[in-house]
Amino acid sequence: MEGDPEPGSVVDVFYSDGKFAGKGYFNAQSQIMVRLLTREKGIEINDGFFLKKIKKCWAYRQKLGYTENCRLVFGEADGLSQLIVDKFNEYFVIQTLALGIDKWKPAVVKALETVFTPKGIYERNDVPVRELEGMPQQKGFLSNPFDPKIIINENGLKFYVDIENGQKTGYFLDQQDNRKAIKNIVKGADVLGAFTYTGSFEIHAANYGAKSVLGLDISQNAVDQANKNAELNGLQHIVKFEAVNAFDVLKHWDKEEKRKYDVVMLDPPAFTKSRANIDKAINGYKEINLRGMKLVKPGGFLVTSSCTNLVNTETFLQIIDMAAKDARRKIRQVSFLTQSADHPIIWGMENTHYLKFLIVEVG
Ligand code: SAH
Repeated sequence: MEGDPEPGSVVDVFYSDGKFAGKGYFNAQSQIMVRLLTREKGIEINDGFFLKKIKKCWAYRQKLGYTENCRLVFGEADGLSQLIVDKFNEYFVIQTLALGIDKWKPAVVKALETVFTPKGIYERNDVPVRELEGMPQQKGFLSNPFDPKIIINENGLKFYVDIENGQKTGYFLDQQDNRKAIKNIVKGADVLGAFTYTGSFEIHAANYGAKSVLGLDISQNAVDQANKNAELNGLQHIVKFEAVNAFDVLKHWDKEEKRKYDVVMLDPPAFTKSRANIDKAINGYKEINLRGMKLVKPGGFLVTSSCTNLVNTETFLQIIDMAAKDARRKIRQVSFLTQSADHPIIWGMENTHYLKFLIVEVG
C-alpha cells in the first residue's frame, strides 16, 4: 500500500509487477480491502460513472422484459459491489452495504432521479453486515417522504409492499419468475405453503386455480399482510394464512392428523450466513423438506427453495434426495430453476448464484 487512503475512497490497484489492475473502493477495516469498480485505467469514478452504470442496468432489465418491478442493481453481478437497488414500479429501495459505495449514495440517488421519475426513494440499510464495514444500521427516505406502504403488480396480481418495515427491501423479487412456474401443478389442488411471508406464492396458486390454499408464517405481521393481499386480489375465500412455526405444525399434521395435500410449497429463510453453522442449515433443510414431502399425496408435488448462499446446488439436491429416502418416497424432478433473470449470475462469483428453486413430483 502506498500513501494513506481515506476509508471508502477510490484507489488504484496494481499487480505485484506494477501493471494496472483496476480501480475500486478501499476500506482497511473490511476483510475485503478493495472492491473493484473498473479494470480500465482511463475511466474516472464520478457521478457520471454511476449514471452510466445505472442506465446500463435498466437497459438490461428492459431487454429481459421487466417493466415495473425488478432488481435494478444486483451488486457484484452488475459491477457495483455491495449496491442493491430494487425497483418497485415508481419507487426505489436501495442498500449500500460497503463503505465505498455508501459514499456514492448521493450519486446513485441522482442517477435514479435522472433515469426515472421516482415517486420515492428509500434506504434500507438496516442490515448487520454494514457493521463489518464500520457503518451504522439505518433506514429512511432519500427523497421527499411518501407513504411507504405501496401496491405493486406482479404477474397480473396486486401486492402490498411495506418498504419501511417489510423484510429485506420489502418484497422478494428474486422469486418473481418462479411464482409463474407453479401455474399448471396447482390447478384444482389443495395447496399448503410454508414460509409464505406476505403470501405471494399462495396468492399466485389461488389465482392459477387451486381449490384451497393454506399459507403459514411464523410472523403475525407477515400473515396480516398476506391476508390483506388475498383480499386485495379477491381471493380470500380460497387462500387463508396462519401464524405458526412451520417446523412444529408440519410434523404434527403428518404424525397426528395424517393430513395430505396435492402441492406443498416451502420457501424458508436463509438458515445461515456463516460457514460455522453450515451443518445446522443442512439439518434444517433436510428436516423441513422431509416434513413437507410426507404431507404430499402420492403423485402430488413438492415446490422447494433455498436462498442460503453457502448451501450450493449440489448440496441442496443431495438434501432433497436424502429427505426423499427418509420419507420413503420416490421423486421425479419437474423443474429446477434459480433466481429471476434480473439477478444475473456471474460464473465464478458464487455469491451471485444463491437461489435454488426445485419442483419435484412425489410418488
Ligand atoms: N415465500 C416468500 C418469502 C419467504 S421469506 C415470498 O416469496 O415472498 C421466509 C419467511 O419464513 C419469512 O417471512 C419468515 O417470517 C418465515 N419464517 C422463518 N422461520 C419460520 C418458521 N419456523 N415457521 C414459519 N415461518 C418462518
